[in-house]
Amino acid sequence: MALTTSDRDTIANDDQYAPVDMTALLRELFPITRSITGNGVRQTLASLSKFVPLSIHEVPTGTSVFDWEVPEEWNIRGAVIKTLTGRTVVDFAESNLHVVSYSVPVEKEISREELAAHVHTLPDQPNSIPYRTGYYARDWGFCMRHSTWLSMQDDRYLVQIDSGLAPGSLTYGEYFIPGETEKEILISVHVCHPSLANDNLSGVVVATALAALLSHGGPRRLGVRFLFLPATIGAITWLAQNEGKLDSIAHGLVLTCIGDAGPFHYKTSRSGAAIDRAVEHVLRHAGHDYEILPFSPYGYDERQYGSPGLNLPVGCFMRAVHGTFPEYHTSDDNCDFVTSAALEQSFSVLVDVLHLLDNDRVFQRTDGRGEPQLGRRGLYRAIAGQREAGGASQMDLLWLLNLADGSHSILEIADRANVPFRRILAAAKLSLEAELIAEVSQ
Ligand code: ZN
Repeated sequence: MALTTSDRDTIANDDQYAPVDMTALLRELFPITRSITGNGVRQTLASLSKFVPLSIHEVPTGTSVFDWEVPEEWNIRGAVIKTLTGRTVVDFAESNLHVVSYSVPVEKEISREELAAHVHTLPDQPNSIPYRTGYYARDWGFCMRHSTWLSMQDDRYLVQIDSGLAPGSLTYGEYFIPGETEKEILISVHVCHPSLANDNLSGVVVATALAALLSHGGPRRLGVRFLFLPATIGAITWLAQNEGKLDSIAHGLVLTCIGDAGPFHYKTSRSGAAIDRAVEHVLRHAGHDYEILPFSPYGYDERQYGSPGLNLPVGCFMRAVHGTFPEYHTSDDNCDFVTSAALEQSFSVLVDVLHLLDNDRVFQRTDGRGEPQLGRRGLYRAIAGQREAGGASQMDLLWLLNLADGSHSILEIADRANVPFRRILAAAKLSLEAELIAEVSQ
């Protein structure tokens, strides 16, 4: 296929495309009670299906997936703590963070002391509700503002959690856009957090917007697979059920916490793969503040994709880093914490990363040794024309023609020349047209 100058260019002639309003979608998804299984995930995926034709998979409870098993399905209808006089002091209807995810049902009168063992608060952030889970604990619990807990001084309370744990299934969504080759890019986001905006929904809405864009794009070299799944158990389930396909994954990214206004953080892949170079290149040349973090076996699903026997080339693309910002896993990670500008900026960086990955190729000179005579081929004139349009400079062309020896990719040449990928790509396009280079099949 021809080299394109922008993924956005490839959609210009498709009048069916309308960009996803990421902020509106985030607000629509925010109130839904999600967990690693249950109707909240289904409802979330149904919302995403308005933009992207997702395949929804249901994997039954009890299915073996590597060292794990798909758990029982959890659903919750409501929960309250009341005084003995009938006054409600904590209500799930006010915030779905109030109940520890996967709490078993309970309905009883209880002493304050006994209740204390089931209450989670943040004494240092007394007006924030913490987010807690107990997927495998077979216990129950309430999360509340520390100030609320301090105000609850009765000896006894009524607690009620109207939840259910039962055989059902684990739900995830998948969307694959085929490319012209067998190779593909994996984009993975988790959909298991309830009303938390940056940690979970920012990744969900940006991935949806990317999928919607690419679904209206032109032909691609690499396929792109989008996964919307519960963290850990969802990724393990997908991997276990798709082991035969994993060799096709050439690059991958986990997206999370990309809606806050802070600098970018990129955690490199376990294997030190090409994706790491691509993301850093785009961040550097976009002029954004960013930090590169080394791989570690903690965080999100990059540690499932990059694990023994799999070692897929998957990094984690973030702005704020989990566990290091005060809003993390609290009621302060809400729609106000996420900005439209940050979502758009994250989206734009990722469009450039996907464009780069799809166009990064290795070329070899067709004309033997030494510097080719550019004037005879009209390349000086062509370069002058490009220059005004922000394309390749003469220096870019010289870099390309010097390093197009069958062992350097366009990205490697761009890094060596310290210029944006697009400019070396433009130089490659000119050189291809002049038949000075040919692609090396990999
Ligand atoms: Zn989280």
